[in-house]
Amino acid sequence: MNQAVQEKPAAKRKPKETGVPENKKYLHPLMVKNYGKWKYHDRPRPGVLRHVAHSGDQLWTVRAGTQRQMDVGTIRLLCDIADKFAEGHVRFTIRSNIEYMVSKAEKVDPLIAELEKHGFPVGGTGNSISMIAHTQGWLHCDIPGTDASGVVKALMDDLIVEFKREEMPNRVHLSTSCCEINCGGQADLAIIVQHTKPPVINHDLVANVCERPTVVARCPVAAIRPAMVNGKPSLEIDETKCMCCGACYPPCPPMQINDPEYSKLAIWVGGKNSNARGKPTFMKMVASGLPNNPPRWPEVGVVVKRILSVYKDDARPWERMADWIDRIGWPRFFEKTELPFTKYLIDDWRGSRSTFNASTHIRF
Ligand code: SF4
Ligand code: SF4
Repeated sequence: MNQAVQEKPAAKRKPKETGVPENKKYLHPLMVKNYGKWKYHDRPRPGVLRHVAHSGDQLWTVRAGTQRQMDVGTIRLLCDIADKFAEGHVRFTIRSNIEYMVSKAEKVDPLIAELEKHGFPVGGTGNSISMIAHTQGWLHCDIPGTDASGVVKALMDDLIVEFKREEMPNRVHLSTSCCEINCGGQADLAIIVQHTKPPVINHDLVANVCERPTVVARCPVAAIRPAMVNGKPSLEIDETKCMCCGACYPPCPPMQINDPEYSKLAIWVGGKNSNARGKPTFMKMVASGLPNNPPRWPEVGVVVKRILSVYKDDARPWERMADWIDRIGWPRFFEKTELPFTKYLIDDWRGSRSTFNASTHIRF
């Protein structure tokens, strides 16, 4: 028999698993034991959840706010608290709260006292204002027009009382975003950078740095076209079309759009991802042109607090921000919050057809 035929076939290549790692080994042992067999949970006090399993086991979760972007020392401190005052297990929520799990009720109060002693407020559950989901800001991203985490710190200093109580009509999710186009989130109230002038092009750098077809294709309103400037291949913008979205700046940094004066902040309200009690909703812009004024962004704080305070006083129990506005209508929203209404605000979906996505370009 031919020797070559007898050779073993080559071993099959194993797939490389690059998805989410298996999480069970990180869970508290009671969570593993009762996985999928929980009966109910309640909240003995703001910031604490008690989970009761069909087996009779009980597990208390204590939730505390963190600054999200943390140094190693802070992470070590949080882990030390987990080892000494909890049972060695923690997890983070999508809004950057840290949660500790304990199996005995008597461990809850000392854990809360230790967290608060180190400046981590306990709360963020139920009908509270939870920690703000925010984007990367100046620390990590290459295109931010503001420091999302800085806005968060300034705002949460003002809203800490509502974080620690459960006195809002329903839960309130906030988010901040440091550009208009990428990882910004839907929220009951969102603070988003708003550019108000088209990018300024540095023609000396475009040819070396930018793939011009990519940049041209990126513009949602077809406002960019190739051009020769000073004998070099570059780009030009039709400023009458440009809607100052900033989408061209990430693939082409020489198209600088961030500006200390003309990059502003806008506030959007009424976004909701869940379909509990009502459909998911898109948020709408209700305030624009607010100064991008680090490090405390006081003008933004005033408007945010005003909207939240009117919502708290006027909404019925269990109305999310969008439900409340739906019931009272936009004219009364602006009356009650005393925000100036202009034609640039709200923009419903049908109206957006003339201002958004008007080109047939393929975008990436
Ligand atoms: S929102 Fe924009 S600028 Fe901010 S981190 Fe995300 S991509 Fe970067
Ligand atoms: S991508 Fe946006 S900012 Fe850039 S030219 Fe087009 S509309 Fe203007």
